[in-house]
Amino acid sequence: MEVTFLGTGTSQGIPVIGSKHPVCLSEDERDKRLRTSVLIEWNDCSYVIDCGPDFRQQMLRCGCEKIDGILFTHEHSDHVLGLDDIRPFFFKQGNISIYAHKRVLKALKKRFDYIFTTENRYPGAPSVNIHKLKNKPFKLGDVKVLPVKGLHFKLKVFGFRFNDFCYTTDIKSMKQKEKDKLKGVKILVVNALRIEPHYSHFNLEEALRFIEEIQPERAYLTHISHLLGFHAEVEAQLPENVFLAYDNLKITI
Ligand SMILES: [Zn+2]
Repeated sequence: MEVTFLGTGTSQGIPVIGSKHPVCLSEDERDKRLRTSVLIEWNDCSYVIDCGPDFRQQMLRCGCEKIDGILFTHEHSDHVLGLDDIRPFFFKQGNISIYAHKRVLKALKKRFDYIFTTENRYPGAPSVNIHKLKNKPFKLGDVKVLPVKGLHFKLKVFGFRFNDFCYTTDIKSMKQKEKDKLKGVKILVVNALRIEPHYSHFNLEEALRFIEEIQPERAYLTHISHLLGFHAEVEAQLPENVFLAYDNLKITI
């Protein structure tokens, strides 16, 4: 299984529009972060988790020619706004499968009514096959995927465990029962927004404490704000098995 980090930035991305913050002005490519998303590939399968406003650019950048589906963690704009850009895939492949909790599907239907409507459809509108997720395992190809529920302030969000790999983002807290699902995971992705605490995201300290509890072999931090600091400086201070993810990073599991 191969995972490509398509984006590792928080909701505004880095650089932030108009910002003169040193991290936003950094020339290190790793300090340029599109909105958070990953591409997961194995055998002939390729799935994307979340589909934010940078989806088009991310698909072009990684040279992706086919997707088998999109899994949604939650309905916030930085995770869903690129949905219209599934059109090139839809024209080639037909309906695109989307996987989400029913609350998230409801939000998508409201925002992208023309994609979901059955009447008076605009001919260029893409179509989707809807897969409603509960907090129960489901199958993608030959792989069992386990949703892992966390809280993003008060909003329930899903992480997804694919065998030895688990991707979570936009988490501030997780019940023990859900943490138990992460036992034995080899590679864990966790959000770490910044140094200062935040009401709906782990800060760096909370993310490291979470990783310490789960004890994966390796962990990667994502959904990063410019306020976390320069990639090179932050990564140098992390525990041996923890890394800052960056855009275009590929890992093999
Ligand atoms: Zn987010």
